[in-house]
Amino acid sequence: MPADDHAVYLSFDDGPIPEATPFILDVLDRFDAKAIFFMVGDNVRKYPEIYEEVVRRGHLVGNHTYHHLGSFKHWTLTYAVDVTEANALLHTKYFRPPHGWLRHTVYWWIKRNYRVVMWDVVTRDYSKWLTAEDVVNNVKRYARNGSIITFHDSLKSIDKLRTALPESLQWLREQATPSRRLNKWTDGETSKRVDKPIVIQTRATVCFHAIGTNMQANRLQPQRIQKG
Ligand SMILES: [Zn+2]
Repeated sequence: MPADDHAVYLSFDDGPIPEATPFILDVLDRFDAKAIFFMVGDNVRKYPEIYEEVVRRGHLVGNHTYHHLGSFKHWTLTYAVDVTEANALLHTKYFRPPHGWLRHTVYWWIKRNYRVVMWDVVTRDYSKWLTAEDVVNNVKRYARNGSIITFHDSLKSIDKLRTALPESLQWLREQATPSRRLNKWTDGETSKRVDKPIVIQTRATVCFHAIGTNMQANRLQPQRIQKG
């Protein structure tokens, strides 16, 4: 994402689960922010009503495999079948590999069928070594204009996110002035602006477009694609 894109993009991996996802949806609503949820197919099978709710509230969903498979541990065909099974529930063109890794052979198959969306800010909200405050500090330290930030709607992260998510969103919002936000959404004029503050992405449709742009801009962290 170019640095003159005055938005950050929120993503949540590994859900949906009742212990975390509804809380996150309420926080996002409070901040009028939209996100993309990379869901595990098996969780969608268990909690289809939460999947429906995510979509109903205007967020995007992405495929995160059916069983949260690590590409390095599985054959290409096994992996492809798992992704396809997940998509029978998810109906999405976005894909994010669990653990951020894809075998070369899987990568080519995925790329033909999906848009691969990586990230540049990992909050590490899942880590038992970090506090909620550490998670917020990761956002403050690493978020830039155009960043794709990754949180998790998982059991490991939710205790931290109860405070870290609203604090992070509050901080991100404070980086933007209302007039700049207005500019961004009314005339779409962003290209001449540099080093301006961050705005939280608030429209799913823009998020679509922006994620696509991001991929072409090659901010994909290609070193995370495993060869062979
Ligand atoms: Zn994951």
